[in-house]
Amino acid sequence: MKFAEHIADLVGGTPLVKLNRVTEGIDATVLAKVEYLNPGGSVKDRIALRMIEAAEQSGALQPGGTIVEPTSGNTGVGLALVAQRKGYKCIFVCPDKVSEDKRNVLKAYGAEVVVTPTSVPPEHPDSYYSVSDRIAAETPGGWKPDQYSNPEGPNSHYHSTGPEIWADTDGKLTSFVAGIGTGGTITGTGRYLREISADRPEGRVRIVGADPEGSVYSGGTGRPYLVEGVGEDMWPRAYDPKVPDEVIAVSDAESFEMTRRLAREEGLLVGGSCGMAVVAALRHAKTLPADATVVVLLPDSGRGYMSKIFDDGWMSSYGFLRDAALDRTVGQVL
Ligand code: PMP
Repeated sequence: MKFAEHIADLVGGTPLVKLNRVTEGIDATVLAKVEYLNPGGSVKDRIALRMIEAAEQSGALQPGGTIVEPTSGNTGVGLALVAQRKGYKCIFVCPDKVSEDKRNVLKAYGAEVVVTPTSVPPEHPDSYYSVSDRIAAETPGGWKPDQYSNPEGPNSHYHSTGPEIWADTDGKLTSFVAGIGTGGTITGTGRYLREISADRPEGRVRIVGADPEGSVYSGGTGRPYLVEGVGEDMWPRAYDPKVPDEVIAVSDAESFEMTRRLAREEGLLVGGSCGMAVVAALRHAKTLPADATVVVLLPDSGRGYMSKIFDDGWMSSYGFLRDAALDRTVGQVL
């Protein structure tokens, strides 16, 4: 019989799939790493597992303890999955821009959710960083994984995501593209791919970051943008700015349009940061020859964004669908 002992044992080992239609006019092969196929539905299952196991080993997390984390949802699901198996309680702190769908998912896994305002600076006592610090300190047995500074975040990608991509592309990978949120994915995966390909005759793998326009990683000030899970208004320790060779800024409009195209044209129902990463990947792939291979990491599923990116009314209210009726007509013709 073939079965896993626990759902948490199924984290990682996600497949690559070729993008066929959104790549029109591009000679290089563009492959998507589909992280929504992780058991919790996102790339964040990887860091959750490794951060918890490292904290158990160091004694920072004791039996019966409580995990307190500021999370836009995905890290929470990963932590909740692993916490269930090991008997920990979870309290998650989310900014109010995070969709209600996502917050309800966390509650469904049995976690407590505390909502904080998005429009306050990180040092403000009501910011989601400050509130989670306070709850972690005040809760007996409280432990804050702190995905923004925990080295086990990038380490999880160094030991899983990077080797998986290298093995699945037979060492022929040209470039790796990923969005930057905490920076853990690009730092850990990028570091592995740079090291393993360093002495390759055809040169090492190029690492490309994707960032929402206005975020600090691409030279902005942290100006608000709507795409969730990526971009920052400060520099987290999980991010090593020396890893990416380049960071490409992408607008909300481009990110959301591509997110909708991925569902309609590629059968990939994914989140807004995936659309953003694919825009950056295609912009980069345009500069590459036909024998190049680009891998772009798609962090999560589109299910959490049905009332936003996939809702014509929501899109129009922000001016993203210039003509929603026309968009629907084109959809039907396709
Ligand atoms: N996309 C989504 C939807 C996310 O939740 C995250 C994590 N914040 C990212 C992308 C970025 O990943 P990382 O934190 O590893 O940079």
